[in-house]
Amino acid sequence: MSDVFEKCRSWKDYRIAKATGLYPYYRAIEESYGATEVQIEGRRIIMVGSNNYLGLSADPRVKEAAIKAVERYGTTCSGSRLLNGTLALHEELEQRLAKFLNREAAVVISTGFQTNLALSSILGRHDIVFADRQNHASLVDGIRLSFATERKYRHNDLEHLEQLLQQAAEKEPKAGKIIITDGVFSMEGDVCDLPRIVELAQKYGARVMTDDAHSMGVLGEKGRGTSEYFGLEKETDLVMGTFSKSFASLGGVLSGPSDVINYIRHKSRSVIFSASMTPATVASALKALEIIEAEPQRRARLLDIAEKMHNGFRAMGFDTGVSVTPVVPVHIGDQVKCFRFWRALHEAGVFANPVIPPAVEAGHALIRTSYMATHTDEQLDRVLDIFEQIGKKLDVIPQTRPSTYT
Ligand code: PMP
Repeated sequence: MSDVFEKCRSWKDYRIAKATGLYPYYRAIEESYGATEVQIEGRRIIMVGSNNYLGLSADPRVKEAAIKAVERYGTTCSGSRLLNGTLALHEELEQRLAKFLNREAAVVISTGFQTNLALSSILGRHDIVFADRQNHASLVDGIRLSFATERKYRHNDLEHLEQLLQQAAEKEPKAGKIIITDGVFSMEGDVCDLPRIVELAQKYGARVMTDDAHSMGVLGEKGRGTSEYFGLEKETDLVMGTFSKSFASLGGVLSGPSDVINYIRHKSRSVIFSASMTPATVASALKALEIIEAEPQRRARLLDIAEKMHNGFRAMGFDTGVSVTPVVPVHIGDQVKCFRFWRALHEAGVFANPVIPPAVEAGHALIRTSYMATHTDEQLDRVLDIFEQIGKKLDVIPQTRPSTYT
């Protein structure tokens, strides 16, 4: 008889990674110094591996809002939104977000991941979902939990998407259709081709949803995300965002037509069977939203930093792909080399994240760096310096700088 636990005992990859010192996960942070630097194992290192894009988790106004909410409402709501877990604060956040995002309505959900799971409630057995193959795991699971049929298209390959839409139009003309894509892809920071997606959606009668986890608060003149960036807000039916990134909190939002949001509010299992966002997380997201609206200079600084880092890495000969966001991937290729690169960075005082399959395709391992509006130029120059030294040592970049780069 086999034992269900056997796979855990004989899990070789984990043991090898631990034994060789190439295990990069679950690193415990002992102290945070304004979020841009942290202490790990007693050493202070520069953090370029967080999604705290605007650096607001360390903002005194956001912290104070969280503390006040705890004092007023306690530490938890101890129940789901549907029953005892709705505070006036949740409603205020939803109304403010709907207004900010230019949408009829919004619902806030306890985590970003659960927000995408909530999608499953509107995807029925007669619907077809067209999904980018690199979509975030939470979208993959949200679609998987539904009864809809999923058709995956190759990453940002919209000819492939059109073929799938065409086939569906011929074979299943009556099916409801929706195209679901990350606005900004989480590992490589590239943006979806929303203009072409919208064109295809209109041609084939499909709805469009974007996951703006990495673009809300970052892209667009007002920080409303991918659809604002492309001037296609009206053409994008549903927009999802998370509060764990620019909003310096925890939770997620879905916004769109009020009847759709109302349906999700009542039918989604990740909403009605899970405790609501805590008072502190709602209050900090609300305060962050206020700051995002009032201080566009933070967004401008963040995008300047992103450009500085892209240009800096490229000048050294690193490949940073096609990202235009503060997610700057440094392509390494080989998985073991990627782990070695990560360890050298860690030892030299830089916190960055190694990304390996299945998060990226085989042979495309990378070091994912991501920046905050509150990083100083001094910190960033130090990061570039350390990357250059390690890149040369591990033969990822040439010993001398290329004379030109694109
Ligand atoms: N969507 C995307 C694109 C993400 O990158 C993430 C998390 N990194 C999520 C959804 C889930 O959000 P959260 O971590 O806030 O639950």
